[in-house]
Amino acid sequence: MSDVNIPYEESDLYRIRHSAAHVMAEAVLELFPAAMLAIGPPVEDGFYYDFDLGKDENGKPRTFSEEDLAQIEQRMKELLKQNAPFEHSSMTIAAAQEFFASQAYKLELIADLAAGKLNENGVPTAVPASEVSIYTQRNFVDLCRGPHVKYTKQVKANAVKLLRTGGAYWRGDEHKPQLQRIYGTAWHNKEELDEYLKLLEEAKARDHRRLGKQLGLFHISQLVGSGLPLWLPNGAILREALESFLRQAQLERGYLPVITPHIGKLDLYITSGHYPYYKDSQYTPIDVDGEKFMLKPMNCPHHIEIYRSEAHSYRDLPLRLAEFGTVYRHEQSGELNGLTRARGFTVDDSHLFVTPDQLEAEFIGVIDLIQHIFQTMGFYDFRARLGTNDPDSDKYAGTPEMWQRGVKAICQAADKVGMNYTLEKGEAAFYGPKLDFIFRDVLKREWQLGTVQVDFLLPERFDLEYTAEDGQKHRPVMIHRAPFGSMERFVGILIEHFNGAFPLWLAPVQVMLVPIADRHNDYAHDVSRKLRAAGLRTAVDDSSDRMNKKIRNAQLQKIPYMLVIGDKEMENGAVAVRTRDEEDRGALPVAEFITQATTLIKTKRLEL
Ligand SMILES: [Zn+2]
Ligand SMILES: [Zn+2]
Repeated sequence: MSDVNIPYEESDLYRIRHSAAHVMAEAVLELFPAAMLAIGPPVEDGFYYDFDLGKDENGKPRTFSEEDLAQIEQRMKELLKQNAPFEHSSMTIAAAQEFFASQAYKLELIADLAAGKLNENGVPTAVPASEVSIYTQRNFVDLCRGPHVKYTKQVKANAVKLLRTGGAYWRGDEHKPQLQRIYGTAWHNKEELDEYLKLLEEAKARDHRRLGKQLGLFHISQLVGSGLPLWLPNGAILREALESFLRQAQLERGYLPVITPHIGKLDLYITSGHYPYYKDSQYTPIDVDGEKFMLKPMNCPHHIEIYRSEAHSYRDLPLRLAEFGTVYRHEQSGELNGLTRARGFTVDDSHLFVTPDQLEAEFIGVIDLIQHIFQTMGFYDFRARLGTNDPDSDKYAGTPEMWQRGVKAICQAADKVGMNYTLEKGEAAFYGPKLDFIFRDVLKREWQLGTVQVDFLLPERFDLEYTAEDGQKHRPVMIHRAPFGSMERFVGILIEHFNGAFPLWLAPVQVMLVPIADRHNDYAHDVSRKLRAAGLRTAVDDSSDRMNKKIRNAQLQKIPYMLVIGDKEMENGAVAVRTRDEEDRGALPVAEFITQATTLIKTKRLEL
């Protein structure tokens, strides 16, 4: 059966992985009978299960060793081969409390079920349960809503692998007990598993944290703080190239630049609703002389105050305010990951203030801008997701009419430009629905990048208005948008996607000059100056290394071009061109090379 076009939750793979998680927990309980079980869901590309193994002799949480992991995997495979059925049943709350009496985490889950807070799979519900759903294989009984495969054998033992263990807090809360998480992966068959493991290896080699160090792009200093990246010169050059590309595209589309401070009064965010919405993921407000300030979690309220700084007529609209605005969120330390998950990051933010009549055209304009950017980056493999509110959740503000209007506006705009999208409940911003652009990189991993949001709520909360043609005050609509998403995250993804070998226009150093002997150094510096005058970013390797070593070093730095200079080149006013892919292009007059390279940069060509 094909998994194409059906939601993951309904796919074969989801059942396989969910079942693998249960069998893994069964194996853990056999080998560690005192282990306490938390939860074990399928996740993208695999599954995990969280366990509490108690404390070691030093009072620290006991962890799984590499040997434990191998043993668990071994036992798990034996259990899978035995072909036991997964049987579904139910228990009353009281019976479940008795059955799971020695499993403290399960008891908490049962209490949540009885109170109508969360269901067996940890999904919020509003209905108190009188019974709980149970799945059993052999002697292993778990609180679970399924779905599972019918028999354990349907999870092929040679298509399963346990990958790693790590700490995870119960319910993701660092004030709660630390659990031991085992991550595993499971596929239809061995071939799929092998292919996945190969991609994992490749992903490890491309890890942006490793490449970021190797290429001198960014640094995270523990003295500055976790999740607060420092951009090194090479990284800053790359980022500025991206920023000026977007600035130019925005200028052509009538955006206006603004600059706003990194903090604002707490009242500002209370008015916008960002506080207390972002309270848990915020740095604690700063108290200065009795006034409270907050590091900004979002740029919107600042831009709104710019809109409110003067009266507007319909003739001023659409007003498109743009800023590379840095925001701060106190992500949990376990969630931080180099540039892709940071605590301080810069959003390529813009807020469009439009009349209701302009909404569709402006939304289309934003989609067009995002498509232009993705095409330039060579991101052809992407999809769009329309995130709507979840009517059962209380984390969304505004009226149902606002939400309907917003969703309708997005659908109409997307339909008009012929863009396909999937609808996903519960993926909206708290103030309105949004269209997210999800990019699949060369390793087929999905990353959420650009986003466009329609907002009727903040204009209401800040009482925004403009004078319409009828002379009356009307309420504008806001569009929030960020094509890159965040500069940090986008660059992190770029590093991995390109494996550090950026297109010429983005490469921090575009050309390395390689004089063969000392007597060629002056000429090399001379050529370098000419290239720089033409706008190219160059460096000269006038070290005492041999030529091959110099070329090798430049290749390790993924510098697009190496220009080798010897007696012949000096005589002819030429350079011998090599690329980082070890292609030898022979000698070119310096002027010719400059023309070729600057053309590639101007057209933002992906290939050299
Ligand atoms: Zn389950
Ligand atoms: Zn915004």
